[in-house]
Amino acid sequence: MANLDLATTIVTRGASPVPVVVEADLAVLGAGVAGISAAVEAARLGRRVALIDGAPTLGGQSVAATIGSFCGFYSNGPTPYPTVHGIAQEIIRDLDALGALKPMHGRRNTIVVPYDEVALGRWIERKVASLPTIAPITGALLQDVTRDGGRLRSARFATRYGMVEVRASGWIDASGDAALAWAAGFACREPNTPVWGTNMMVLEGVDCAALAAIDRAELKARLIAKSAPYGLRRHDGFLFATFGEDRALVNMTHIATPLDPLGAARMTLDGRDQADRLLRFLKDEYAAAFAHAQVRVYGQPGIRMTRWIKGRHHLTVEEVRTGTRHDDAIARCSWPIELHNRPDDVHWEEFGDDHMHWVPLGSLVPEGADNLLAAGRCIDGDPAALSSVRVMGPCIATGAAAAHALDLAGSGSVSQIDIKALQARLHDNLDRR
Ligand SMILES: Cc1cc2nc3c(=O)[nH]c(=O)nc-3n(C[C@H](O)[C@H](O)[C@H](O)COP(=O)(O)OP(=O)(O)OC[C@H]3O[C@@H](n4cnc5c(N)ncnc54)[C@H](O)[C@@H]3O)c2cc1C
Repeated sequence: MANLDLATTIVTRGASPVPVVVEADLAVLGAGVAGISAAVEAARLGRRVALIDGAPTLGGQSVAATIGSFCGFYSNGPTPYPTVHGIAQEIIRDLDALGALKPMHGRRNTIVVPYDEVALGRWIERKVASLPTIAPITGALLQDVTRDGGRLRSARFATRYGMVEVRASGWIDASGDAALAWAAGFACREPNTPVWGTNMMVLEGVDCAALAAIDRAELKARLIAKSAPYGLRRHDGFLFATFGEDRALVNMTHIATPLDPLGAARMTLDGRDQADRLLRFLKDEYAAAFAHAQVRVYGQPGIRMTRWIKGRHHLTVEEVRTGTRHDDAIARCSWPIELHNRPDDVHWEEFGDDHMHWVPLGSLVPEGADNLLAAGRCIDGDPAALSSVRVMGPCIATGAAAAHALDLAGSGSVSQIDIKALQARLHDNLDRR
């Protein structure tokens, strides 16, 4: 018989457990694509990074919400070029080598790149593990922040294993909801007309040849005419074959994404229920493609725009439409305006072949902040402007820009950095063709 050690030790919680303290040069709240980009850039600059996320795993929505395609990675027209480099092009190179990408040329006048979210999740985890100066702190929910004028000093996080206190000289809010700026008491914005989220799903058992024959305009017309008995809120969206021979990715629901805790808990239930009703509609109306389909994965609720910073600069839809290049531009994008401002439909404005719009550093700086920058989908813009620059390409670019700006600021203020020096570091994301 095996010699098993069956001894135990009796342990009791101490009276006042002390938090684990992590000292870093840069603390990044949110490990979605924006936060990962920031953390990787800062680590490559030799900085010690605390990468904190409330979820147990890295990748944010790009992995957990099964978003499934990269947008805003390329310019428009017949010969698109990459508009964002850094981890964006490393991901393209490495996932392509694994057969985990299926680029679609010509979609929205650019290249949309469907990806295998399992491969992306492992790419992110391996990248973070390979950079020893990044300390990932997962399952860690922001509790409170210590602020001294325009400077954040420390923040405390609750994990299931106890409290963690992070002290850092620079901070990036890549939480998507401006959770860090909000907790620190900086002014934030919320849209007067709520922006709808989506519960994505991956179906299996799909006849992908029959799926390819479905016309999107006809699908929309049929949804308008026939979806009422199914209780479907949204009448547009897309579904396309994804990785695996019989699988399809579906982006066709609209869910409310409130910021109150009980409402937020309900959105998962609502999203999955809508996804089920949508599948019944598809089985009834498009039996050739979906008769044998079932849900393989329900994504976590996909949250587009809830609350974001009030920055030094408010990017406007007119600046996006006219392609205004700001003196402090740090990122570019040609993705359409894609505003999910109605339960039943989406407002799209596509741009021409030579169009490019820009994100200024001012849209990343919360008004009055010295060592805090936003990155990703919680930078400052009006809802239409933000609906374009919140896709993953520009999220990666703003993450990189925030890391470099704080590196240049050192112990000073991000408002005083040499903008030309920052733009020189970001040359590839601004001017490379
Ligand atoms: C349904 C849907 C479909 C989309 N489709 C596309 C598409 O096809 N292509 C594309 O490029 N883009 C798409 N987008 C947009 C894009 O996916 C997101 O805007 C982008 O992934 C956001 O990245 P992020 O890093 O800014 O934020 P997120 O990925 O949202 O990451 C934020 C992280 O912060 C953490 N966090 C938040 N608050 C706290 C807190 N208080 N404490 C601790 N941690 C916290 C969260 O756990 C999360 O991991 C889509 C978005 C949605 C919702």
